[in-house]
Amino acid sequence: MIENNEMIEPGWKFDNSYVRLPQLFYTEQQPTPVHAPEMIIFNTQLAASLGLNAKTLNSEEGLTVFAGNHIPAGAAPLAQAYAGHQFGYFNRLGDGRALLIGEHITPHGERFDIQLKGSGRTPYSRGGDGRAALGPMLREYIISEAMHALGIATTRSLAVVTTGEFINRETELPGAILTRVAASHIRVGTFQYAAQFGTVEDIRALADYSIQRHYPQVFDHENRYLSLLHEVIKRQAALIAKWQLVGFIHGVMNTDNMAISGETIDYGPCAFMDRYNPATVFSSIDRDGRYAYGNQPRIGAWNLSRLAEALLPLIHEDEEQAITIAEDAIADFIELYHVNWLEGMRAKLGIFNEELEDSSLIEGLLSMMKKYDADYTNTFRALTLEQPEATALFGSAEYAEWHERWQARLGRQKQSIADSQQLMKNSNPAIIPRNHRVEEALDAAVEGDLTVMERLLHVLANPFAYSEEQAEYTSSPPPDACPYQTFCGT
Ligand code: AMP
Ligand code: MG
Repeated sequence: MIENNEMIEPGWKFDNSYVRLPQLFYTEQQPTPVHAPEMIIFNTQLAASLGLNAKTLNSEEGLTVFAGNHIPAGAAPLAQAYAGHQFGYFNRLGDGRALLIGEHITPHGERFDIQLKGSGRTPYSRGGDGRAALGPMLREYIISEAMHALGIATTRSLAVVTTGEFINRETELPGAILTRVAASHIRVGTFQYAAQFGTVEDIRALADYSIQRHYPQVFDHENRYLSLLHEVIKRQAALIAKWQLVGFIHGVMNTDNMAISGETIDYGPCAFMDRYNPATVFSSIDRDGRYAYGNQPRIGAWNLSRLAEALLPLIHEDEEQAITIAEDAIADFIELYHVNWLEGMRAKLGIFNEELEDSSLIEGLLSMMKKYDADYTNTFRALTLEQPEATALFGSAEYAEWHERWQARLGRQKQSIADSQQLMKNSNPAIIPRNHRVEEALDAAVEGDLTVMERLLHVLANPFAYSEEQAEYTSSPPPDACPYQTFCGT
């Protein structure tokens, strides 16, 4: 609450470039006001890093904006149009329950989309109510902030407010709105939309816009559209490798949920893997395991092929040549992904240089983890701390043999064991947002007790700290929490 009467400016500095794209790509749309908004959580640190005044925004002034009841000066809300392959099937989509209220420019000159998710119906809502429930919005807040702290590119969460209204799902749930901050919300599906429903000039406008916004360094390239494809491929290869390295399962890698910026976007049914198994799926709607942990790199390539297809007319005037060029680019993704992953795995094992047999050393560990049902995060944590746990894996003769091989490998590099341990500490999170802890925090929050979530957010903010207070968050789920299932919560 503001104590004196002097209101400090919130610090918004909007400059809306998306409206300069062809009309095909958006519809101007105001949020639907809500009855009795209440601030549930506000991200003070993120606000500060955006050059916003946290104190002003964490008050009535911010609340009315985050609820969609007041449009700040300079904002010009719109719903974005896009399409996407959902579980392999093409659909015409768009912001059905979200609005881009504007692009905020930070004091450092960076541009971020400020988006309200759950702000009411739009022309793209199809049958939906345009609203979101409190649990899933807080879930996105927790996981996206945890991903950021893990050093993984992601959209961020600035605030969650409740609307004071109930929404109808299987039961009545409290409605909420998340304020999402993103480098942009341009998706692979935005390009598919242009290719399917627009002209070549529309695709070109979107591509030029994306290049200027995310990859300005390639604008003067001879074939800047091919360079755009390459840049997106590079970012996605790095991103998906990072997901694999921490055991993150996105859960709904539809092409509309893959960002051109290379940020992780759309935290619906995502979850972190406990026991290592490439077949792990949490999402209740992913019945065939299309988006299982072990499939994510392959799906990444599939989605990028859809982007390449949309860009074909810009890549080369001869379609056959364009296809060959695009296919080479996709092959690069698979190679680049592997390079990123291998580099990350070496770091997780304290390895600084490269040896040919590193892959087999890594595969050796992973196959034991699978065989003995070992917890992914805790196995690397135990290796990092040199504290083998009382588990089947660490008790096995196979492990003893592998451990000897690993130690010999570390001995063949010039760095000390202490250096290796430091590298491992920086590469293996002590904690991840365990599903049962996230659920516990959400259950309490929906009942009105925010302290459980606040404590969880506090420990997740420093996943590489290896601090005392993190210890209790490292335990794997109790048996009655398995098998864990996530729901889209739409
Ligand atoms: P998502 O599964 O969140 O990626 O959403 C897929 C599509 O469904 C997007 O176009 C969303 O805007 C739309 N959508 C999801 N939930 C709702 C809702 N409650 N009302 C309207 N549209 C929705
Ligand atoms: Mg989505």
